[in-house]
Amino acid sequence: MENEKIFEKLEPIRVPEIDEILGVPFKVLDDGFIRVIDYLGSDQSIVQAARVSYGRGTKKVSQDRGLIRYLLRHRHTTPFEMCEIKLHIRIPMDAWRQWIRHRTANVNEYSTRYSLAIDSTQTTEPDQWRMQSSDNKQGSAGFFDTEIGKEMSADEKFLHDKAREIYSKRVEAGVAREQARKDLPLATYTEAYWKIDLHNLLHFLELRMEKNAQLEIREYANVIGNEIVKRWVPIAWEAFEEYILTSKEFSGFELKLLSLLANGKKEEVVEAAKEYGWIKYKDDKITFNMERWEFEGKLNELNIPIPWQ
Ligand SMILES: Cc1cc2nc3c(=O)[nH]c(=O)nc-3n(C[C@H](O)[C@H](O)[C@H](O)COP(=O)(O)OP(=O)(O)OC[C@H]3O[C@@H](n4cnc5c(N)ncnc54)[C@H](O)[C@@H]3O)c2cc1C
Repeated sequence: MENEKIFEKLEPIRVPEIDEILGVPFKVLDDGFIRVIDYLGSDQSIVQAARVSYGRGTKKVSQDRGLIRYLLRHRHTTPFEMCEIKLHIRIPMDAWRQWIRHRTANVNEYSTRYSLAIDSTQTTEPDQWRMQSSDNKQGSAGFFDTEIGKEMSADEKFLHDKAREIYSKRVEAGVAREQARKDLPLATYTEAYWKIDLHNLLHFLELRMEKNAQLEIREYANVIGNEIVKRWVPIAWEAFEEYILTSKEFSGFELKLLSLLANGKKEEVVEAAKEYGWIKYKDDKITFNMERWEFEGKLNELNIPIPWQ
């Protein structure tokens, strides 16, 4: 056969760093966890798949690293879909409700129609009650005083205990589990098996490790990223951290402003921002503009003074 010379005997791909933690739970929140059940592929599988499109070429580790970084930078995503991971997670239902919005995974969740609801709810320590952010309607900023928090935690306990008591009473009376559960709090833990490919997992991590994601789901995402993906596909993880997680996006207009700033043209920047509608005044005070506020955040991170302040 003409093609025979290009076929080689393949060894199964295993990653010792992940094999070591298979089945071992990483604790998250007060009673949640994440553990790896199974996985398919490694950094090598990404390279192997990409070489089908780019030809075989050389196989030095440094070149593999360069190739993975190139693929990620240029959003050539399909080679990353060759890797898959299956996780077992235990998570409060409110965080799970956000998690389940990621449609590109395969999910099997614990059934509270079939089984009794897990007898555990996520509780909040008195110093962990977060205040509503005034800038970001979806976010929190700062913590309540612990004395106030103590009362909130006591109320929380009362509510959880009462809801569980009523649930148990209904079940004992013979109410169907599917109906008895209806008043359980969203803080009740659920469990699921969740399988996803690396491309979509990185997308999940990009959204859920981000500082604007809710703290609870962010804690799960941080464990998946820093404890699991980093061990499993260290080269892809490094590229993801570099090109996505710690990178910043700038719009065309923002780049124009940065270019003017780099050339010392601060007044032109302010004029351009006014023309663009970023700077408006009410009662001599500059009004809030979300896009401008986001740009100011990026300037702060770059230690660049805000030109209109
Ligand atoms: C900070 C934050 C705040 C949020 N606030 C809200 C909110 O207030 N209300 C709310 O409802 N949701 C909210 N969400 C959820 C958000 O809108 C997304 O549903 C969620 O993040 C999943 O993202 P995704 O669709 O990109 O991911 P996935 O479902 O995993 O999909 C991955 C990618 O696959 C493609 N894809 C998947 N399915 C389809 C499809 N049917 N058609 C076309 N392309 C598809 C898309 O490119 C998508 O980006 C919020 C998310 C975040 C991170």
